[in-house]
Amino acid sequence: MGTKGREIVGLNAEKVLSLLTKAFADEWLAYYQYWLGAKIAKGPMKEAVIAELLQHAADELRHADLVANRIIQLGGSPAISPKSWYDLTNCGYDAPEDPYVTRLLEQNIKGEQCAITVYNSMLAETREKDPVTYNMVLQILQDEVEHEEDLQALQEDIDLMLNRRS
Ligand code: FE
Ligand code: FE
Ligand code: MG
Repeated sequence: MGTKGREIVGLNAEKVLSLLTKAFADEWLAYYQYWLGAKIAKGPMKEAVIAELLQHAADELRHADLVANRIIQLGGSPAISPKSWYDLTNCGYDAPEDPYVTRLLEQNIKGEQCAITVYNSMLAETREKDPVTYNMVLQILQDEVEHEEDLQALQEDIDLMLNRRS
């Protein structure tokens, strides 16, 4: 931890660390949910869906890395055991029990919408108090917004292909 770097965050550092610790658990669970979904996906436009899920899995792992680095900069420690991810998570883990593409998309859209809510509230929490965390959270939020849109666009294409226009 850099002492001056932490000092500028002031009394807020403990609060920020607790939010980052929870986000770290979310990112790993999101990574695994995407990674596994890509392995087992079945159904129409499977190749396009798998490519998107894999791309998002890589992004979530990158987010976990960013968040872990910031936790360490603030003098904290990322969750030592995966066991704690379930206790810490905001958005949970939605097991892909049904491998059908539209079901996977639905689950992951729900996850992205949760992530958008979480990171948006972290922006409010860090605005004008912790510019370094704020900037990182903003970058992650931009990715999550893009993820939601990508998945909803795929879902729409599959619906159009199946002629279930609504
Ligand atoms: Fe993420
Ligand atoms: Fe995401
Ligand atoms: Mg994408």
